[in-house]
Amino acid sequence: MSKPVVVLDPGHGGYDPGAVAYGLREKELNLKLALKVAGKLSGVKVLLTRESDVFVSLVDRVAFSRRAEPDLFLSLHANAGGGRGFESFICSRAGADSRAFEMQGFMHGKIIEALEPWAIIDRGLKKAAFYVLRHNPHPAVLIESLFIDNEREAGLWRDPVFVETLADGVVSGIEAALELPAGSTKPEATGGEAAPGTGAAIAPGTTLYTVQVGAFAYIENARMRLDEARMAGFEDAFIYQKRF
Ligand SMILES: [Zn+2]
Repeated sequence: MSKPVVVLDPGHGGYDPGAVAYGLREKELNLKLALKVAGKLSGVKVLLTRESDVFVSLVDRVAFSRRAEPDLFLSLHANAGGGRGFESFICSRAGADSRAFEMQGFMHGKIIEALEPWAIIDRGLKKAAFYVLRHNPHPAVLIESLFIDNEREAGLWRDPVFVETLADGVVSGIEAALELPAGSTKPEATGGEAAPGTGAAIAPGTTLYTVQVGAFAYIENARMRLDEARMAGFEDAFIYQKRF
């Protein structure tokens, strides 16, 4: 059975910083969140429209989605413009019977749930004619996580615990949206509790032997090595994240 495909689309990049406030640049937050989410997801094939600080046009983001044929295209943004809270969007044209509508419900609910300790305002499930939603041939959701021109929320984006929790919320949302078995994705793989990349539970006391073919500080380099391994025929190759 082939794995579901998720495209993560960190908004902005390169000469387009997105919103800028309190010394934060939206493009960096979007990328940081996307890389964290990518590192935490397993049991799905994750593709990113950008993995570094480069400009990718909206047209190219949609073209990427067309090529990747994802089960879910998730665009990551942070808000600005005088407000507070979290909101999510699907295309204005998406009906209540669409896959995007259903996935937005899961994504939104799980993220709000994860952020509960911070009492984040729920701005609701919305629709808009954003380009990456409107022209996307695959189910697409866009999230706006907090307002970086709000002093408190800018502060939260600087809090590593908050960002980690937000990433966990996004991961739970993706799991729910794709109807993956709960917990098939391990946040912060830290040992032999689950077989990374397979989602399979391992009985306590089992020893697992991992074959490593590289260790990288940058996920794009890890992804390159992963591609090499897959091209060499190692279909069970995966990226294993460990924090030091
Ligand atoms: Zn944005």
